[in-house]
Amino acid sequence: MAHRREVWVFIEQEEGCIAPVSLELLSKARELADRLNGRVCGLLCGYQVAELADTLIHYGADVVLLADHPELAVYRTLPYARVALELIREREPYIFLLGATPVGRDLAPRIASAARAGLTADCTGLQIGDFENKGKRYADLLYQIRPAFGGNVIATIVNPETRPQMATVREGVMRLGEPDNHRTGEIVRVEPHFEPADLALQVLEREMRPPACNLRHASIVVAGGAGVGCKENFRLIYELAQVLGGEVGASRAAVDAGFISQEHQVGQTGVTVRPRLYIACGISGAVQHRAGMDQSAKIIAINTDPDAPIFRIAHYKIVGDLREVIPMMIRAYKEMSR
Ligand code: FAD
Repeated sequence: MAHRREVWVFIEQEEGCIAPVSLELLSKARELADRLNGRVCGLLCGYQVAELADTLIHYGADVVLLADHPELAVYRTLPYARVALELIREREPYIFLLGATPVGRDLAPRIASAARAGLTADCTGLQIGDFENKGKRYADLLYQIRPAFGGNVIATIVNPETRPQMATVREGVMRLGEPDNHRTGEIVRVEPHFEPADLALQVLEREMRPPACNLRHASIVVAGGAGVGCKENFRLIYELAQVLGGEVGASRAAVDAGFISQEHQVGQTGVTVRPRLYIACGISGAVQHRAGMDQSAKIIAINTDPDAPIFRIAHYKIVGDLREVIPMMIRAYKEMSR
């Protein structure tokens, strides 16, 4: 069967709530499919989740492949992989995108190895383009773009021969489009066929821990780096964040030094944020940190080093000691808001 140029997105949902990354990926998939003159398919697995299908269509899906089954109520690798693989064999998608969440990172390699497809993890960019190798020309491949070698190069990876072309993308990296409530699409119900071995693992109990912070969706982030100096000084970062109504972020060096927990880390191996305002305090601005925050609408940087790389992307630059600057900012803000 010829490839129908379908761009698939695995739709992650938890108790009927769609993961934001899945909607972001639908927006991106729409862009890619338009370029390919193809279709966007959302693969929605779960139990009693049919009502989510319309939302997926509003965000850009042409087709929702709906696998609604009691065995899919809670994520388990094997039943979910079984559904995806059966559908991949039947419909031969051109591209398959998943969120780089714990679920996506578990499921994507399982599917890729069984389907013998190429997979690039943690992409920061996806484009369509041509490729030539040893005199052979490939049109309209998926460029899977991501930092490599510790962030020192940006690699563009292609899978010329295998399908689907698979990639995972972290939450917050792709821009979320506006939903169009008038869009219509097709909902295709699929009947999963499980082998007994797929169901060997039973989930007896689940404990959900609420996240320690809501960095991803914060409109203001105040972040501290190694320049904060010690855990006690981090209270300055918390204080400024509290006054401004923002969340607290951190560089990896601050996390490694034990100033703050890993959930607060912004960057390539942390969270990607896109706030209205990002205040970087005592952060040098290494490429791996910038990868997680350079899409912020406005950036204020406070640093004692006037040549710190963070100043290259900052809109407002304050050269000074954060231990003096932050209390001044807090005082000024409080006075202004009186
Ligand atoms: P430093 O680079 O040590 O900078 C401290 C800054 O504070 C300096 O610019 C200094 O001038 C300034 N300063 C010192 N004292 C003061 C003061 N009193 N007042 C004001 N300024 C002061 N890093 C991340 O952040 N996020 C990631 O996700 C991430 N992922 C990585 C993945 C890989 C594979 C690798 C190899 C690295 C990764 N890193 C990441 C680490 C990254 O390369 C940098 O080492 C890290 O971002 C540096 O953190 P920093 O800017 O806080 O510390």
